[in-house]
Amino acid sequence: MRAGEIVLLRLPQPDLMRDESCEYCNGEVQAKKVTVHYRHKGKLVIIENVPARVCRRCGERYYEAVIVEKMETIARLKKATKKTVVVPIRDFAETAA
Ligand SMILES: [Zn+2]
Repeated sequence: MRAGEIVLLRLPQPDLMRDESCEYCNGEVQAKKVTVHYRHKGKLVIIENVPARVCRRCGERYYEAVIVEKMETIARLKKATKKTVVVPIRDFAETAA
């Protein structure tokens, strides 16, 4: 896993969604709208207001399978986006020298 990337493959199974505690730390999980930095074909797509369950202790995010599918669809959309941000990308090794 590269830093800053969100791994969407580690999805909880539907039976794990039934209890409200985190699979990793057993912390309390609450429903929240989050901003997802989604990578699609080398491009970063930021999707806002994604329904997720977020662990209050470790911050682990859980997405339901339908939500992940929807994010994939959104990332693939060809139509113009509502908002675009310009993000400066710096290389740690170069700038820390
Ligand atoms: Zn947790």
